[in-house]
Parts: sequence; structure tokens; C-alpha cells
Amino acid sequence: MPVKEKGPAKKREPRRFPPSLAGSCLRYAVMDVLGFGRLIDPESQQAMREGTDRHKVFQQQLLADYAMARVEVPLRDESWGVSGRMDALIETPRGPWVVEYKTVSEERFRLVEESGPILGHWAQLQLYLAVGRMVGGSLVVDQRPSGERLIFHAEPDPVWDAWIRARINQVKAFQTTRKLPSREVSRACLSCDRWQRCFASEADRQNQVSDHPLWEPEPPVPARAAFQRAEEIVS
Ligand code: SF4
Repeated sequence: MPVKEKGPAKKREPRRFPPSLAGSCLRYAVMDVLGFGRLIDPESQQAMREGTDRHKVFQQQLLADYAMARVEVPLRDESWGVSGRMDALIETPRGPWVVEYKTVSEERFRLVEESGPILGHWAQLQLYLAVGRMVGGSLVVDQRPSGERLIFHAEPDPVWDAWIRARINQVKAFQTTRKLPSREVSRACLSCDRWQRCFASEADRQNQVSDHPLWEPEPPVPARAAFQRAEEIVS
């Protein structure tokens, strides 16, 4: 019986950088693009489910309120190496306006109210502004379960653009060599769903975070000077 020669094995394309990781620990982002699993506890799973339901309601309301809105809009850019979906995009007379929707616990909501957007949410919005060349964008933050809402507007910011680009380039470099970078120990490790790959035990994690609670990425995070509180989703 003739033996069929096998063709060359198809090379898997490297996973592109997901926008939601724009403000994350470098090691976490590299684990993600290399396909490492996560350990999500039941409480976080429940919060994620609730967040997904609220996303859908928010998007339906946006479609009803804005004739020029689209939801789940793909964003893919080869030069940045980024691929993802924006929650919503609204065409305005000035150009495209991106809308990112988040839900948070009451505790986090009060922090956002006091000190401004969570860094990761802000970085994701800035990534959309830079990669999608938007004229502006909104971050809509709802409290679970009350539905209380905060809206922030942002404009493209070259300093954030450069920071995000530098971080993504670092992720891509590690992805190519399939090596994990060093840990960026900070308070974020306490809620990280890949922490078991970084610490020998919960006690070890707690001790190291206590010694080094602040996140000190390279390059340092730019200031979030340009956010504005708003009443409406689009200005
Ligand atoms: S545990 Fe900390 S250092 Fe490790 S991936 Fe998570 S955030 Fe980064």
C-alpha cells in the first residue's frame, strides 16, 4: 500500500497581545500569550458571570441610545501585535469614539470614585485609543450589584502610547524565546489567578508582597493626568 507523505506541519501563529492585559504584570502577560492556564476561584467566576450579563445589558442600551454605535468591534493590528474586541465603538462627527465597560465590587468602586480609574482599565482604554487611532474614549465603571455608575473620558496620550508599546514589545520578546520574565511583585499578586507559578505557598506570597507592595514595572507607569469625569458616555 502506498504511503502518503505527510506535508510540513502547520506552524501555529503566536498568540497576539490581548488589550485587557495592557496594564498587567509582564510575567502574567507572557504566561497568557504562551497559553498558561489560570486558577479562577468560585467567587471570581461568579463575578465574571455577573459582569458578562451586565455587559450585554449595557451594550443593548448603548445600541438603543446611539444610532451610530456598534458593539463587540474587532481590533487587530499586525504592527502592534494586538488582537481583541472593543465593547463598543461610536462614530461621532469628530471620528471614532471607543467605549470600554467594566463592573467592580463596591470596595473598588469607592476607590475609583476617590482616586480615578483602576490602572489596568485605564491602560486598556489607552491601548484602544492608540491602536485604533480614536479621537477619544470612555471608561464606564458600574458597581456590582447596585449599578451605580462612574464615567471617565480620555483622549489619546502619547506618553501612554509609548509606555504600552514598550510593554507589548517586551511581552513579544519573551514570547519568542518562550521564557518567563522575572516576577513584578506587588499587591496585585494577592488577587492574581496565576500566583501559584510565582510563589511556593500563600505564606510566601503574603511575605513577599508585604515586603514589596508597590508595582514597579519597567518603564515606570506614566501619570494618569488626562482623565476627566463625565456625565454622558460621549462628549
Ligand atoms: S503572582 Fe504577581 S508576579 Fe506572578 S504573574 Fe501574578 S502579578 Fe505577576
